[in-house]
Amino acid sequence: MDIRVVDVRKDFDRYPALRGVSLDIRSGELIALLGPSGSGKTTLLRLIAGLEHPTSGMVFFGDEDASQKSVQERNVGFVFQSYALFKHLTVADNIAFGLKVRPRDKRPPGAAIRKRASELLDLVQLSGLEKRFPAQLSGGQRQRVALARALAIEPRVLLLDEPFGALDAKVRRELRQWLRELHDKTGHTTVFVTHDQEEALELADRVVVMSQGLIEQVGTPDEIYDSPNSPFVFSFIGEASELPVSVAGGQILFEGHPVGLSPARAGDGAARLFLRPNSVDLAGDRPDALRGTVASVRRSGGWRRINLLVGEAKHLVEIEVPADACHDLPDKIAFLPRYWQLFPAS
Ligand code: ATP
Repeated sequence: MDIRVVDVRKDFDRYPALRGVSLDIRSGELIALLGPSGSGKTTLLRLIAGLEHPTSGMVFFGDEDASQKSVQERNVGFVFQSYALFKHLTVADNIAFGLKVRPRDKRPPGAAIRKRASELLDLVQLSGLEKRFPAQLSGGQRQRVALARALAIEPRVLLLDEPFGALDAKVRRELRQWLRELHDKTGHTTVFVTHDQEEALELADRVVVMSQGLIEQVGTPDEIYDSPNSPFVFSFIGEASELPVSVAGGQILFEGHPVGLSPARAGDGAARLFLRPNSVDLAGDRPDALRGTVASVRRSGGWRRINLLVGEAKHLVEIEVPADACHDLPDKIAFLPRYWQLFPAS
């Protein structure tokens, strides 16, 4: 099911939680809504679910205007971080719940419901646990029951709000992998909210980066990581250091000295050079390198993380070099970013 969000605004009292958001989600896609706390991810998810209605703008399910339709009418399945299972129901009854509470004329016969629950138990790899109660399951197992329950109604769309947020790192990683496989098997259009960059980049077909009620960028994980379109996305998606530079005829200058980076497409004037600590080469005695004084060094696995004070103005830049690249660290280090982006000075 294609979903189209068109120029949606959502105000709570007078507070604008979404300030004009447009997004096309293609049928069968796995989409991550990624952003810091308060950026509007959950509000956007709830608007797609039908739990909230837009102040202005529209939400389409296929060709149908769903903006004012209810959750049931939209036929969406959703799972929240703290979506409690029914404590007094077994795993099988929890999964079958959505089917059992359907109006009589839409409710499948008992045998069909039991069959569906058993297929779903298989799908979420919990066969054998159907008679257990939620209290007898691990956190990861509970979350899989919640997913099976959401899938039971054969939703047109699956919506997940921080589905693995409450779990420990190892279980989280396992469930991530599992959700990806489940998605590839069932092909549901799926939208999930996360504030975890790694989770979004690892799991999603496309990532929607949000900030302050607006979408900053939409792209594949590679596009988002390799071509962030703003300083916000660059810094939010991975570690970043920044230097103020200028551009003259395509040449990048730092404190007036040419820097050995490929010509910039930016126009002349002040600019912001962003680099990633883990994408830096040591530059020996190249005259066109950036240079910094070592302020501190930390060992991190096979790497050294070095804080450098760069240039006359002592800008703090972090770089990461293989621990064996320099045994006796000199006081001054010359380096060049391998991967970098220029943004206009604000
Ligand atoms: P988090 O990662 O912390 O869950 P989020 O990106 O999902 O954040 P939202 O929950 O969508 O953000 O909230 C966006 C903004 O809207 C926040 O400033 C929040 O306080 C506000 N907000 C959300 N729901 C309501 C509500 N029901 N009433 C008033 N303000 C709300």
